[in-house]
Amino acid sequence: MSLIVQKYGGSSVADAESIKRVAKRIVETRKAGNDVVVVVSAMGDTTDELMDLANEVVPLPSGRELDMLLTAGERISMALLAMAIKGLGVEARSYTGSQAGVITDGQHGSARIMDVTPGRVRAALDEGAVAIVAGFQGFNRGSGDITTLGRGGSDTTAVALAAALKADVCEIYTDVDGIFTSDPRQVPAAQKIAVITSEEMLELAAAGAKVLYIRAVEYARRHGVTLHVRSSFNNNEGTLVVNSVDGESNVEEPLIAGVAADLSQAKITVVGVPDIPGKAAQIFTIIAGANANIDMIVQNVSAASTNRTDISFTLPKTDGAGALAALESSKSDVGFENLIYDDQIGKLSLVGAGMRTNAGVSATLFTSLYEAGINIEMISTSEIRISVVTRADTLTEAVRVVHTAFGLDGETEAVVHGGTGR
Ligand code: ASP
Ligand code: MG
Repeated sequence: MSLIVQKYGGSSVADAESIKRVAKRIVETRKAGNDVVVVVSAMGDTTDELMDLANEVVPLPSGRELDMLLTAGERISMALLAMAIKGLGVEARSYTGSQAGVITDGQHGSARIMDVTPGRVRAALDEGAVAIVAGFQGFNRGSGDITTLGRGGSDTTAVALAAALKADVCEIYTDVDGIFTSDPRQVPAAQKIAVITSEEMLELAAAGAKVLYIRAVEYARRHGVTLHVRSSFNNNEGTLVVNSVDGESNVEEPLIAGVAADLSQAKITVVGVPDIPGKAAQIFTIIAGANANIDMIVQNVSAASTNRTDISFTLPKTDGAGALAALESSKSDVGFENLIYDDQIGKLSLVGAGMRTNAGVSATLFTSLYEAGINIEMISTSEIRISVVTRADTLTEAVRVVHTAFGLDGETEAVVHGGTGR
């Protein structure tokens, strides 16, 4: 007998029909002899709708009350799901985050899980019931208040419960068949990945892949939870996210796990920075003060005649205006000449644990882009990732040619069930 945690996203419980379909799946898992803990998201777009409602009442709702409001979404789906399961003749009980022992810090809207004490969930299992837990929510002991974990937080709830209950697997049900070698909406030849390491998954998620939330993957990695990302619309095997595919497993690591595309970044170039010690420190202290998240940084060789250099970096478009304003106001202090803002960039990231031991990866990457006539504007690397910046309008083409160059193309077109991938 296994203990399985199953998490169903909003698109899997969008209406009464979907809830009944999911209930059947849960009952099948239970009848196969497993202990089952289910974590649910709010139905469909409920969270967005509640958020809109709050903003209609007041422009800046209080964090405490907003959390109170948003957590209602998951309470609706958990209760309906428990009813549906009972309707199929299997005992089920729903629990809020606090009843399930999800203890968090006090940061409303983005609370972090501090502890999980799932006594009532364990007791329900011991009595043969299926336990249904509201995702995305917790309880702060200091204030006695209800908190939320940030958008998409139900994944984290599921992983945290799986870790605390020492579950055999944490299944994340969504509307796509698993993790793909690239976004199937952009790259029709993208293939489902059977097994990926959490390390690779973290890099892919950070590089723009949207199926799993980074915090959930980090939590799973830290606590050794195996994730199985799969579709709730069929019975296909999905993608296993495992802690490491090392020597013992006898699995040869594939060179490349996937290619991610990110259109959410912009580039700022600080032109004519005096090439003396301390200038980069000054610039990035200003950027940090504006709370901008820097990704890639490039500094050019300074022109001998002027002894000035250009420093370029990328950051989320949403941080662009704030960073520009902060830099502009310190222009004479830093002594640079001017600023260039470019929000028409795209970032391609190639991720693979096998890169560590293979020297030819960058040559293949750059050659494939060259042959497609695509210009590279910036490059950055980590141990298992290479990212390049291109023009935004060449990004899709870039991802496709790189996907082909690394032999990732499959024979069949990937099935996309619609929805957002959540
Ligand atoms: N319902 C929340 C959201 O939409 C949490 C989740 O879906 O995981 O962000
Ligand atoms: Mg949702």
